[in-house]
Amino acid sequence: SRQFTRPLNDLANQFNMILSAVAGAERVFQVMDEEPEKTEKEEESLQLVKGDVRFESVSFSYESDQATLQGITLHAKPGETVALVGPTGAGKTTIISLLLRFYDPDSGRILIDGKDTKRVNRESLREQMAVVLQDSFLFEKSIRENIRYGRLGATDEEVEQAAREANAHSFICKLPNGYDTVLQSSGSSISQGQRQLLSIARAMVKDPSILILDEATSSIDTLTEMKINDALKTLMKGRTSFVIAHRLNTIYQADQIIVLQNGSIIERGTHDELVEQNGFYRSLVDVQFGQQAVD
Ligand code: ADP
Repeated sequence: SRQFTRPLNDLANQFNMILSAVAGAERVFQVMDEEPEKTEKEEESLQLVKGDVRFESVSFSYESDQATLQGITLHAKPGETVALVGPTGAGKTTIISLLLRFYDPDSGRILIDGKDTKRVNRESLREQMAVVLQDSFLFEKSIRENIRYGRLGATDEEVEQAAREANAHSFICKLPNGYDTVLQSSGSSISQGQRQLLSIARAMVKDPSILILDEATSSIDTLTEMKINDALKTLMKGRTSFVIAHRLNTIYQADQIIVLQNGSIIERGTHDELVEQNGFYRSLVDVQFGQQAVD
């Protein structure tokens, strides 16, 4: 059987290099982080969903002369993890942008629990989703308010509970002012890994059915990384998750890997299936890790 022989972390770190490119994702999703858009009144509100997500032959272009996504069909069942993989510019971020309704498909449909998202108002759609970026937007406000931003009605107890689940409680308690510590815009008051834990806590308190994760590419100390991985595992449990994946570890565990190239899905399956298939995914792995990695 084909197995990776080198330590997983080592491989995962190297895998980052071939699956990079997230500046786009940050740009796009920060809009969502910052403020909700106005919505049109005639659209329907999405109520609490199970998280069944379908793309049916979705095509989309930013510029009329060139298709960015072509015939994207995928189905994520409630609770499944879908890893989006592929080179820079393949269309991973665009898939997420459509899911969040920053744009609508030119043709095809996106359905959540069977409802065409085109007919659903954006605000209620985005209430069903949380986005965790590798560097999420934090305000110059207290840690408590930053977490509560996930759901403004959350009580202090719920905020603290979310922080515990996100493995953030202990570092927060060590800060001079605990949950009342005001974050600096520069981010210098806490580490990048700790900022990630806060964005996970923010997603926890929101408690959505659908998660969008843009995995960190930058190296974070091993202990914090373990805390992040553990917190993400808790967060993803029971939620439909779309991951722009940079770590082999995550890709391994995904229910489905969607391999994109030039706006089309060229392969799909689990890690083992795709390695066995000996196609593009396999070649990404081979090129990056060398033959010994997959024999
Ligand atoms: P990935 O996330 O896989 O790197 P993207 O979805 O960001 O890919 O980009 C897919 C293609 O669409 C790329 O060719 C990119 O240059 C283009 N693109 C992305 N965003 C825009 C935009 N706002 N306007 C025009 N073209 C864009």
